[in-house]
Amino acid sequence: MKKDIHPKYYKCKVICTSCGSEFETGSTLKEIKVDTCSNCHPFYTGRQRFAQAQGRVEKFNKKYGLGK
Ligand SMILES: [Zn+2]
Repeated sequence: MKKDIHPKYYKCKVICTSCGSEFETGSTLKEIKVDTCSNCHPFYTGRQRFAQAQGRVEKFNKKYGLGK
């Protein structure tokens, strides 16, 4: 690698906000928060889950007083 042109590479903690599981990876960020992970994603669990990460559209509408 060339010197002094690369961003710092940290050991990164990834936190899943849905199931709370954590795992480590490498990244230029120190911490990453994700809505879903391999632990709780329906594709891996084989289960359907609804209304987990509370609709962003709803939040948007609420914020701007729309969609009543
Ligand atoms: Zn998860």
